[in-house]
Order: sequence, then C-alpha cells, then structure tokens
Amino acid sequence: MAETILIVEDEPSLQETLTYNLKKEGYIVESVGDGRSALESARRLKPDLIVLDIMLPEMDGFEVARILRKEMTTSILMLTARDDEIDRVVGLEVGADDYLTKPFSMRELMARVKAQLRRTRLLREEMGNAKSADIPHEKLTFDTLIIDLTRREVTLDSEVVALKPKEYELLLFLAEHRRQMLTREFILERVWGWDFIGDSRTVDVHVRWLRQKIEKDSASPVRIVTVRGGGYRFEG
Ligand code: CA
Repeated sequence: MAETILIVEDEPSLQETLTYNLKKEGYIVESVGDGRSALESARRLKPDLIVLDIMLPEMDGFEVARILRKEMTTSILMLTARDDEIDRVVGLEVGADDYLTKPFSMRELMARVKAQLRRTRLLREEMGNAKSADIPHEKLTFDTLIIDLTRREVTLDSEVVALKPKEYELLLFLAEHRRQMLTREFILERVWGWDFIGDSRTVDVHVRWLRQKIEKDSASPVRIVTVRGGGYRFEG
C-alpha cells in the first residue's frame, strides 16, 4: 500500500514542487500551508510521514510538532531555515526524527523521506514481532540502568525513562559497544544511517538529551563520557 505524506509548507512554489516530486515517487500526498490546517490534516490522515516547515502562519512548526507528538507516533521531517533552530528541532521540545536545512535539493529530500519511511516500516515490523513472539525479554543491565530490548524500554532505578526512538537507538548502540571509543561520524553512520546527510552536531545534541535522562548529574556524566577530540564512550 502506498505510504501517505503530509506536507506543511506555506511557500506556494516549494509546496507545489514537494507535492509534485513526492507524488511522482508514488506516495499519497496532501499539502497544507499553515499550522492549524496541519493539525487537522494530520489527525484525519494519520500520515506515515509529515514534512513540516518551521516558519508558518497561524501556528509555527515547533508548536505543531509539539502537539502532534503527544497524539501520534508519525515521523516528522522538519524543514529549518536557520542553523540555530537545529537544537530545538532535534531536542526534547520538538523531537523531530530528522531535519533538512533550507535550501536543499529534491534529491536530498527524497533520500531523507525514503530513509525515514524505511525506518518506520522496520520499527513497525520489529514491534509486531516483539508482540507476537513468545520469547523471554532480552536485557542489557548496567546496575540500575536496564535496557529491555524486547520491549524497547529503558528503566533507571526501576522507573521507565521516556526516550524518543532515536535516543533509544543511540543508547542501545553505545551500550552494545561498551567501553569502546566511538567517533561522532561512526555513531552518525550507524545510528542515523549512511544516507543521513546531517552533521555530527546531531550526535552531540542527542547525547546531551540522553545524559539529562540517564545521568545523575548530566554536567559530570559517568555513563556516557566524552573522549576529548574523539567522540563518546559508554561506561555502563
Ligand atoms: Ca515557511
């Protein structure tokens, strides 16, 4: 079945170009030009992916994402116009799955869209398998920090830590390579995928958010430590 994409972009020519190119790839596409319509369409369509611009009339993309995040698990690819928006975009506040900085090429956008939809499909399959399979929970335990691979759930001091999919994947990747120094580039390639065209700041931002959730004192981390001039190392 064709996947559904909602485009939220107020600039008519860009909205038209995006719609045209995504339809040409076989996706079912709906496009709107303001924040309020974005909420309405997303609730009705339940799209597989939302391509969301930040600067919008009525309600900006940050607000739209913040509201939709509470209602659905749809992937969000944000379009940013400024570098200083990136922290907010990938951070806790918004939690976009990916972002593109304007201006971008259609080839770039298409690569991101495909990568995101592929990840969504894999995640769904995994979740489906995890539910149906009658297997014991596979867990990684680091004293009070426990990663339950079967449920894709992390607990700290017996309390569930609310992690976004990317944060979970990053933590799992670090944990599977315990005590190894991992460069930002390597982490980026393995956790975000070779076709992710972002830069290593994405890794730094996610590590920062993870630390705030799993470290006693995120200013002096002991679980995820920074290796000067190199990258990160998970100590457990
Ligand atoms: Ca705009």
